[in-house]
Amino acid sequence: MQVFSLSLAMFPTRVFTIILLALASPLLAGEVAVDPGDNGADILEDTTEDADSRSSEVAAAVENLLDPDITTEPVIPLADAVNAAAGLAEPIAVLGTEVMPGTARRLSWSATELFEGVPVSTPVLVVNGALPGPTLCLTAAVHGDELNGIEMVRRVMHDLAPSKVSGAIIGIPIVNVQGFRRGSRYLPDRRDLNRYFPGNPNGSAAARIAYSFFTNVVAQCDALIDLHTGSFERANLPQIRADLRNPDVVTLTQGFGSMVILHSTPAIGTLRYAATRAGIPAVTLEAGGPSQLELNEVKLGVKGIETLVNTLGMIKQRRLWGEPEPVYYRSSWVRADNGGILLADVSLGSTVRKGDLLGTITDPMNNARTELRSPYSGRIIGMARNQVVMPGFAAFHVGIQTAEAPVDDSGDAAAVGKTSDSDDYVDGMSE
Ligand SMILES: [Zn+2]
Repeated sequence: MQVFSLSLAMFPTRVFTIILLALASPLLAGEVAVDPGDNGADILEDTTEDADSRSSEVAAAVENLLDPDITTEPVIPLADAVNAAAGLAEPIAVLGTEVMPGTARRLSWSATELFEGVPVSTPVLVVNGALPGPTLCLTAAVHGDELNGIEMVRRVMHDLAPSKVSGAIIGIPIVNVQGFRRGSRYLPDRRDLNRYFPGNPNGSAAARIAYSFFTNVVAQCDALIDLHTGSFERANLPQIRADLRNPDVVTLTQGFGSMVILHSTPAIGTLRYAATRAGIPAVTLEAGGPSQLELNEVKLGVKGIETLVNTLGMIKQRRLWGEPEPVYYRSSWVRADNGGILLADVSLGSTVRKGDLLGTITDPMNNARTELRSPYSGRIIGMARNQVVMPGFAAFHVGIQTAEAPVDDSGDAAAVGKTSDSDDYVDGMSE
């Protein structure tokens, strides 16, 4: 049974000014002061975190402290947005183009600052429904080598009949077009675009691209789904990653049907972090691994997104994921203690018990073999492909099911997945 009725997620009107202003809140100042390596201390977070990127992202965040004022805007419940929308649908202005109700447009966005000095544009697909309602955004390939999300956006957007949509859906299949062209996760300067949101018009190239995207596109959204895959030869069971301490975000997670939902505190600079901070509830949808198009993962992701669109009431009479009940998880990574050849004994989605064999690592030089065993009973929600690994490599991501969405993880009660401080980060993983 769906439970939107009891969660009153809020979202603001589309006033961009509040985005920068919200970012300038004292909360952010507090976060900046915290060692980024210590965020989400109780739940493992996947980030690319070397010293340089940390300091630069913190600097980027600080640069955005432009104005200490906070503007409060009237808010309406997200779940009731369609019902609350009265009268006729209105045109929406995206990238300087008015998109009329009941129509679909293909627009293009170009970051203003590019490395080559030549504008590179990327499509922005807009479906403005014939009926009034909120605006949902789908972003993919913020990491240029993550292909599954590109196909998900294509399928969802081209399935939509504008005459039957309440509200608008904006899909950006390839945000990091420069990385995509090179088959790379990163921008050409090796920066991770997903550490620079909401960006800065006077910052680094990455910060400027992020700023342009955030102000021109993301600012239009009332809710956002950022599509990712695992990274560096790791794959993820299709799952929603969300900061379940935020009630608005929890509401959003409840719309995806039976999808796995993992509590995950977003790293500073991620699109998810910046959007949520700006009052736009955002989640990450992870599915599969990089550099491949995986049809099963794509289909599951599309099913989750279409269930959400239905649950929000933006489309009616679309197929629902039967008996949709979100499945909440906390998680822990199991790491290699030895270097060598990693071979898995489980697969994505496997259910494991404490002590079960997850995989083996064999030293190719001396033939010594070590076993990786699960410290928890749970489910394999992410794992490395078979490969040569170094000691410390995060190999298996074990999800530990919880009865419901944790509403507060500030205490020890939520620290199920915590094994040690060093486990809080997995190098370059995913979003
Ligand atoms: Zn990613």
